[in-house]
Amino acid sequence: MLENKFPGKDISNEDIKSKFPLVAKKNSNHFSKFKVQGVEFGGKKIPIFAGPNMVESEKLILDCAYNIKKIGGSFLRGGAFKPLTFPYRSKKYTETREMGIEWMLNAKRKTGIPIITEIMEEKYLDLVCKTADILQIGSRNMQNYPLITACAKTKKPIMLKRHYGASLRDWLGAAEYILCEGNKKVILCERGVSTPHTHRSTSRFLLDLQVVPAAKEITHLPIAVDPSHATFWRPWIESMTLASIASGADAIMLEVHPDPENSAVDPLQPIDFKSFKNLVDKMDKLAKSIGRKIK
Ligand code: PEP
Ligand code: MN
Repeated sequence: MLENKFPGKDISNEDIKSKFPLVAKKNSNHFSKFKVQGVEFGGKKIPIFAGPNMVESEKLILDCAYNIKKIGGSFLRGGAFKPLTFPYRSKKYTETREMGIEWMLNAKRKTGIPIITEIMEEKYLDLVCKTADILQIGSRNMQNYPLITACAKTKKPIMLKRHYGASLRDWLGAAEYILCEGNKKVILCERGVSTPHTHRSTSRFLLDLQVVPAAKEITHLPIAVDPSHATFWRPWIESMTLASIASGADAIMLEVHPDPENSAVDPLQPIDFKSFKNLVDKMDKLAKSIGRKIK
């Protein structure tokens, strides 16, 4: 009986039975394990998704693919279709869309690294599926039920980012929409929540690491953490990534860029290849101390 055992959780036994029966654990040891392009999720190893915020150019994404694979990233991340907060874009900010998808495909063919990339609109699903090994549903689309249902029907693995205002209950409800289409390869991703306090005192979002153990009490799905979008601030990436691993994260998403200060989008948050390498070494040491591993 999970009900009332954990103060503050707005999830009842009735919810588990009737609202998200497929997402919920059947018993306390029930954790999903599945492979995507040979990479296991939900096992001992913690896969890393790394890459630039946006697929800015063919050269950039190829450079990232080579280096990230060499350093130990399991997937290349990068957005060709971007949910940018403001509509006014200089040339530098323009989404690369179809071209970006082709460039990622080329980087995958040349290096063998699999791809995770965001899908924003159902009309681009066939195009994005050409390169995506995992479809990323961004924070802003977490409750876009027609979009997530269409993605689920493709049977591609899906990473569902938590909306920055969503409760665990709403997040699990959205995941149930994917599982009820018969698509079982779902990864949840915490990416920071919005609170009035963080706006004033720390940053735009607050990395909610308590949601990792909280989610794992309810769901068998693997939980990823994205410290880059949560902190928005390079100097905090290392500590928050290590804290994410300590919290029980099953995968980590990191923004990595060869020249972070000149990143077309959010230049304050990516780390460079050298910092990524140092961080991967530290992550591996920490992971091993808790019975997991990175390498
Ligand atoms: C991203 O991963 O590029 C992104 C836009 O993230 P989020 O949806 O969490 O803001
Ligand atoms: Mn981003």
